[in-house]
Amino acid sequence: MTDCLFCKIAAGEIPSNKLYEDEDLLAFYDIDPQAPVHFLVIPKRHIPSAAALTQEDQALLGKVFSTIARLCAELGVTEGGYRVVTNVGKDGGQSVPHLHFHVLAGRSLAWPPG
Ligand code: 5GP
Ligand code: ZN
Repeated sequence: MTDCLFCKIAAGEIPSNKLYEDEDLLAFYDIDPQAPVHFLVIPKRHIPSAAALTQEDQALLGKVFSTIARLCAELGVTEGGYRVVTNVGKDGGQSVPHLHFHVLAGRSLAWPPG
């Protein structure tokens, strides 16, 4: 999608602090971190939000979560724990309409969220 911030980041048209990249996914650090470790995992293909996922995306989602598990292990935050969040729509607090998974770690995270 031409006018999408995260499509532009996925295409390398806007720079990001990359953690991991393959043909399907990009993981990069959030520009406004809410925890000592805060990165985003996005599919390179434009999907507006988790509300648009279909059966066809099962393999992609498996890859997202296995990639998050591996990156968190590499970053040394698995034992302490972490949170994976995807915000959907207005009430969900989604500000960028391209599917992304926040991964937050490095401090105790409150629950329930605000
Ligand atoms: P949302 O509010 O949609 O759940 O999350 C969007 C996230 O993208 C926010 O945490 C915000 O800080 C992050 N973000 C917005 N613009 C940029 C950018 O240009 N670069 C990076 N690395 N993160 C961004
Ligand atoms: Zn996009």
